[in-house]
Amino acid sequence: MLLLKNIDNPRSAELGFYEECGGYEALRKAYALTPGRIIEEVRNARLRGRGGAGFEAAVKWAMAADSPIPERVLVCNAEEGEPGTFKDRELLVHKPHMVLEGMVIAARAIGAKQGFMCLRYEYPEGRLSILKAISEAEERGYLGRNILESGQDFSIKVHVGAGAYICGEETALLESLEGRRGQPRIKPPYPAAEGYMGLPTVVNNVETLCNVPLILVLGAKAYSEIGAPGSPGPKLFPVSGHVCRPGLYELPMGITLGELIFEHAGGVRGGRKLKGVIPGGISTPVLTADKLDCRLDFVSVRAQGSSLGSGAVIVFDERTCMVKVALRTAAFFERESCGRCTPCREGTGWLRSVLERIEKGRGRAGDLELLGEVAENMSSTSFCPLGVSAGTVARSYVDNYREEFEAHVARGACGLPMAGAL
Ligand code: SF4
Repeated sequence: MLLLKNIDNPRSAELGFYEECGGYEALRKAYALTPGRIIEEVRNARLRGRGGAGFEAAVKWAMAADSPIPERVLVCNAEEGEPGTFKDRELLVHKPHMVLEGMVIAARAIGAKQGFMCLRYEYPEGRLSILKAISEAEERGYLGRNILESGQDFSIKVHVGAGAYICGEETALLESLEGRRGQPRIKPPYPAAEGYMGLPTVVNNVETLCNVPLILVLGAKAYSEIGAPGSPGPKLFPVSGHVCRPGLYELPMGITLGELIFEHAGGVRGGRKLKGVIPGGISTPVLTADKLDCRLDFVSVRAQGSSLGSGAVIVFDERTCMVKVALRTAAFFERESCGRCTPCREGTGWLRSVLERIEKGRGRAGDLELLGEVAENMSSTSFCPLGVSAGTVARSYVDNYREEFEAHVARGACGLPMAGAL
């Protein structure tokens, strides 16, 4: 284990313990390198964002570093709202100095003096842990004025969001940070060119930033040899649902779905059969049980018609009614739609209401076609990934478990024991 090493130690969040384990050595290395060299290391390591989109971190960093605007900003995206995802929470609570070290290195690389830690409202423990770590790091000269006597400054403010899922999207996050309603912006311009208050801004996820000290300690070559060649490194997989041992697992990127579920998470609870898996949080399309050989990396999951997303794996056993799962998912997206664009604002409500009547046994002939039509429209015309995902995900349930949906429409129910229990 690299990212979660010593996480069970009661002292894991303490600065002294972090230093004893080699913490802040990477920061010293970073201050011995030029900013351009740090970006090159991250580029050679092929670090891809762990928040969902999987965008190459070095591309964002280089864009901000090359900006003619000298004032730049670094934002740590800790708005972890994707259902099933609890990896950043553990890093914030138990490894706050690793997060901060990653932030200070990133700030040096892009030339930022101002940083923000944007935390979701529902993480009070993470907030306390980060605030304590910030004051400890400032006192020890790792953060604030004249870092490691380099003459360079970088400070971090903690911004607590109001609990909106959409603020996990980087431009909605910036709107919220600027004091406005959290709604996505048109891209381009990308935040790295024009972000917080119009300044070049790099927004990186918590887990992404925790990989940065590791890259400098191991070196880009050794790091890039961990896991899958196209998207290397360690990856945190929060596993939930019908498994024997739900929890947070750190494994090399590219491990198979079957290895994760059966070798690490103990297999399906009660010895039941596997029915389906969500591979990356509920905004990623469901995979059927025959996809156990799928490797969990950005490229391989995409090839199976889904997405690695946040890496949050949710497992369903054979008793699960997938119409019910689709309904619960659609209801979530309806509630979290920010309302800015019509396909998503109206479409999420349509999906929920059609799925609700099918699930309640009042489905009509043509409802599955109607679902497909609404979902397709949303996927192709929504303004941001929320609306696109809401449509794509709904279609994945209908396409993969069509017989179950048809049984609900024809007979009013599927007869599965967990039809009403989720
Ligand atoms: Fe808002 Fe949904 Fe449109 Fe995104 S797709 S801008 S969440 S209404």
